[in-house]
Amino acid sequence: MADERATTNEEWMARGQKVMLGNYKPMPVAIVGGEGSHVIDADGNRYIDFVSGIAVSALGHNHPQLVSAIQQQAGRVLHTANVVWNEQAVRLAEKLVATSFADRVFFCNSGAEAIEAMIKLARKVFFDRGEGRYEIVSFQNSFHGRTLGALTCTGQDKYRQGFEPLLPGVRIVPYGDLSALEQAMTERTAAVLIEPIQGEGGLRVPPPGFLKAVRDLTQRHGCLMLLDEVQSGVGRCGTMWGYEGEGFVPDVMAIAKGIGGGMPLGAMLTTEALGAALPPGTHGSTFGGNPVACAAGNAVMDVVSDPAFLARVDKLGHHLLSRLNQMVRNHRKVCVEARGRGLWCGLELNIDVTNLPRQSLKRGLMLNIIGGKVIRVAPPLVIDQATLDEGLDILDSLLATLGDEPTRV
Ligand SMILES: *Cc1c(COP(=O)(O)O)cnc(C)c1O
Repeated sequence: MADERATTNEEWMARGQKVMLGNYKPMPVAIVGGEGSHVIDADGNRYIDFVSGIAVSALGHNHPQLVSAIQQQAGRVLHTANVVWNEQAVRLAEKLVATSFADRVFFCNSGAEAIEAMIKLARKVFFDRGEGRYEIVSFQNSFHGRTLGALTCTGQDKYRQGFEPLLPGVRIVPYGDLSALEQAMTERTAAVLIEPIQGEGGLRVPPPGFLKAVRDLTQRHGCLMLLDEVQSGVGRCGTMWGYEGEGFVPDVMAIAKGIGGGMPLGAMLTTEALGAALPPGTHGSTFGGNPVACAAGNAVMDVVSDPAFLARVDKLGHHLLSRLNQMVRNHRKVCVEARGRGLWCGLELNIDVTNLPRQSLKRGLMLNIIGGKVIRVAPPLVIDQATLDEGLDILDSLLATLGDEPTRV
């Protein structure tokens, strides 16, 4: 069959453009393999991976423990649905409960689905209490996913335009602005939905103490704090969860991206008391808790929840941020600021660098840009310092060319 014959980046691109919906703008490479913190394209080129499939591939590529967990489970049972118990889901829920504030877990398949579950839980909690609370307050520049509920809470017009009318009862206030939040909260507010650091908003770190103040405010108003840890969670920040070290715990948390190590897996975590609002029949997902996805999740948790592993991510994260800060000083003409936590940093520029990833590919580095001006650095959490430095050297050399060459190809 001619079907398997395509062997080059160009061929895959040409075939893809004929049959794939044009909703993405992929880089001009087809990734066919990977090894640790490198990915390999159809032409045989190797790249240092600073993208991790959008902060997903926590264990990098071809991690032996992860691969073998998936293979073993695939040879046992692929799917059961939630009409029965499945050992992988139970084991993974136990690990999530043991490492977080939560004591109940709902599994789904993506970040947006985990957000939807949080919104439904918040509404149901107050329905059960007979309180007329259903409103959600979220933040400008946030990103919570593409489904209509999650999209309604996403505070970026570029994602919302053309899809209105969205869900009623969502108010959006500036991130970091406590008094605006307080003003938006009414007796109808069911929950505040917030990211510990805004990922797709450009790696925006909130002012010190802001998250804790939001937490206190929700408690004073008798509403819930829904934490979106879809990108920040699972060790990305150098702690198991992004809320750690901030002096509070949320009521509900959404996770996805890193937890499956590359398998589609999401979850909502909450307390026993709040979780009771969703008894049998009120919510569900056919694939949620899929045994293969959860087997992957178990392998990821076994590796990442090790305190020595997290300490290493934290240490590498400090190194990464200090090198990015050095680049800001070295390339003042184009750099604005470096920020982030753990192996999750952003370098903001004052020019559009939408096409920088194409240039970096030519030098062996895979990069990703948020909103035109922020370079996201989110390598696999297993990256070694030499590879991280090698990638950062390439980035540094690219920045040096920026003021001089036209950035738009
Ligand atoms: C990616 C992301 C989502 C949406 O996750 P999907 O799996 O793409 O649905 C939600 N919230 C945050 C913070 C994210 O980064």
